[in-house]
Amino acid sequence: MTTISILALGGDGIGPEILAQGLRIARHIAEKSGFLLDIDHDLLHGASYDTHGVFCTDAVLNKAKAADAVLVGAVGGHAWDHVRIAGGAEAQDGLMYLRYHLQAYLGLRPAEAWKELSSLSPFRCDVVVGADIMIMREMCGGAMFARQRGQRIHQGKRQGYDLTAYDEDEVARFAHGGFALARRRRRRLVSCDKSNVMESYKLWRDVVGDVAKHYPDVEFKHMLADHCAYQMMVQPTAFDVVLCCNQLGDVFSDLTGTVSGSLGMLPSACLASNPADGPSFGIYESTSGSAPDIAGKGIANPIGMILSVAMMFDYTIGRPDLWQAVHRAIEQTLADGIKTQDIGGTATTVEITDAILDRLVA
Ligand code: NAD
Repeated sequence: MTTISILALGGDGIGPEILAQGLRIARHIAEKSGFLLDIDHDLLHGASYDTHGVFCTDAVLNKAKAADAVLVGAVGGHAWDHVRIAGGAEAQDGLMYLRYHLQAYLGLRPAEAWKELSSLSPFRCDVVVGADIMIMREMCGGAMFARQRGQRIHQGKRQGYDLTAYDEDEVARFAHGGFALARRRRRRLVSCDKSNVMESYKLWRDVVGDVAKHYPDVEFKHMLADHCAYQMMVQPTAFDVVLCCNQLGDVFSDLTGTVSGSLGMLPSACLASNPADGPSFGIYESTSGSAPDIAGKGIANPIGMILSVAMMFDYTIGRPDLWQAVHRAIEQTLADGIKTQDIGGTATTVEITDAILDRLVA
């Protein structure tokens, strides 16, 4: 029997609540499909800071390195927003610390228009129905991991700065991952940048253009990011895979939440290798934040987390059929009218997971 070792990090706010539901789904699938789960729990970000004084301990990093996959609920909250830890950008955030040290560079952030939720989208049904967009976010570089960053006095005024820098290898490995993903989907890829005004994006455009030549079977184009954002809202069904740097990917992945009806519906994965090379180590997390406004109320939508678990079975275990089984169970649950508050229903976090489990044929 195959053993899957998982490091489970609830994090903060609603993180532990939704992670618990994701683990119920993982245990159910393991039992039905003949896997043994070896699950270790630990602390991340605020929960870690309050106990250990850092957002991620070496012990947690070492456990993550030894695991097949890491599952994260969500991290962050006002209490820790102004904490400064000695070290680089990655030391300031538990998730960024893991992504950086595990080089989980390939961020997958899918968003789809669920038929049963199309009325929740701010867009007309005929615009949004059928949309299925994969935002690919580079996870280990760019402005968010600036080596030169800080605040200083410049010409008598306070100045904040984060130097955006990407080297060609970082962009190339990410672009290859994006094209490999496009081959698993509808073979269309847009790379977005601001190469009209910024040097780092001029390099980005050159490198992605070179990588594209290796994938003549994928329909490819460059777009300026501002126009891309507009087009994604005007005709979301025209997009398949969208390649973004770390910062644009962060923004665009929440933006595509509009086609899914709620941030709580969005899963994500950060892979440490190209899926074309076989199953990959990954960090799997819901795309949304820790939602402090609803934490502890038992009403958070766990579907983004549950879909993240399903992505783990696909990308780390090599079982896309299990991802499809979870997806079908969620579709059926929504079709039966069982929804949490954020998507127009009254079900609690636990009740909607019960309903998904009842419909899950793994
Ligand atoms: P957020 O995503 O936590 O919440 C935005 C809105 O969406 C809130 O109204 C919230 O209630 C709602 N929402 C989010 N997830 C939901 C769910 N599963 N079910 C129902 N409603 C949900 O964004 P924020 O309030 O801007 O950030 C809160 C904290 O989260 C900040 O500290 C931020 O740094 C952090 N954050 C963490 C991650 C992560 O862990 N991956 C991502 C983004 C933000």
